[in-house]
Amino acid sequence: MISAKSYAAQSPETDLAPWDFERREVGPHDVQFDILYCGVCHSDLHQIKNDWFPGIFPMVPGHEIVGRVVKVGDHVKNFKVGDLAGTGCMVDSCQVCENCKQDLEQYCLEGNTQTYNSMERDGSRPTYGGYSNTIVVREEFVLHISEDVDLAATAPLLCAGITTYSPLRHWGVGKGHKLAVLGLGGLGHMGVKFGVAFGAEVTVLSTSANKEEDAKKLGAHHFVVTKDAEQMKAAAGTFDFILDTVSAEHDMDAYLKLLRTNGVMMCVGVPSKPYSIQPFSLLGGRKSVAGSGIGGIKETQEMLDFCAANNIVSDIEMIDIKDITAAYERMVKGDVRYRFVIDMATL
Ligand code: NAP
Ligand code: ZN
Repeated sequence: MISAKSYAAQSPETDLAPWDFERREVGPHDVQFDILYCGVCHSDLHQIKNDWFPGIFPMVPGHEIVGRVVKVGDHVKNFKVGDLAGTGCMVDSCQVCENCKQDLEQYCLEGNTQTYNSMERDGSRPTYGGYSNTIVVREEFVLHISEDVDLAATAPLLCAGITTYSPLRHWGVGKGHKLAVLGLGGLGHMGVKFGVAFGAEVTVLSTSANKEEDAKKLGAHHFVVTKDAEQMKAAAGTFDFILDTVSAEHDMDAYLKLLRTNGVMMCVGVPSKPYSIQPFSLLGGRKSVAGSGIGGIKETQEMLDFCAANNIVSDIEMIDIKDITAAYERMVKGDVRYRFVIDMATL
């Protein structure tokens, strides 16, 4: 076994605190890498608080992980000691179902194995995430990271990046489209960057009037304060797509009004309560509400390569791991500019 250090939640009621544990030995198909940076996703907070379902405790969150390879198994072909490596939200899947065979491991018909708050495929132990000094992952779920990028600012691409890249690619959002990004947080700010990079006309829909200048710096063409009835009225019926990244309950009918006929609301945010939608909000204008979960490994690599080639990284605020609880408090208030990243040297 490999001794590992981490910050873990012992229960939904307790703050994260230092915790030592063991990871599995490096198997023939595994890569072990020491973690340099890990992004802080709102999903980390949802899960340690049992917002979605009862979690597995102790829980080591973190699924925006980058680091350097320290050991590889005998059969590993694509990584060697010293390489940069990354892992996102998944560490395994069945690899043989219809979806896995089409590079959609995130939709594995047997369920993918999540990086934390999940059981390893053989059921032997829970998985533990990236708020830790080292990790062991099977080769197929390890991503290559360019040596030329800002490593800390690249970490959030492993979740916030792929989660926004994948739906925009799937629905072919680009030139000639009006895209609205709802919620300017970790996912939202990446949605703006990709929307702009793909050639769409991008509007940020935000509850925070003070984010307008940032939104424009990120490349957004327009900014709507969603609490302002006049601005919402002016935006009605104007968007081909809305990328909904909101983490809390919100009024879906109010936002569906902003779509044009045949418009699509792409939901990636995961509030703890089910959505409530008036049927008239959909049938008047043949509108769709759709969902999207992270992205497959092949597409995640494509996204990382696209970002490296186009100088796209996340806008980050680096934190010391002991300040994680304060960072969560700011995240809940919508005060993230625009992703916290833990410097793992502080563990
Ligand atoms: P985040 O950084 O906290 O951003 C969420 C943003 O939503 C906030 O900054 C805020 O933006 C807006 N917001 C918050 N409460 C709101 C409310 N009541 N009404 C309207 N807007 C509100 O969170 P994140 O890390 O980007 O994650 C966003 C959500 O996506 C989370 O639920 C997370 O679990 C989920 N997620 C899903 C996937 C997937 O695969 N689908 C992957 C990763 C994360 P403004 O200040 O601009 O209003
Ligand atoms: Zn995430």
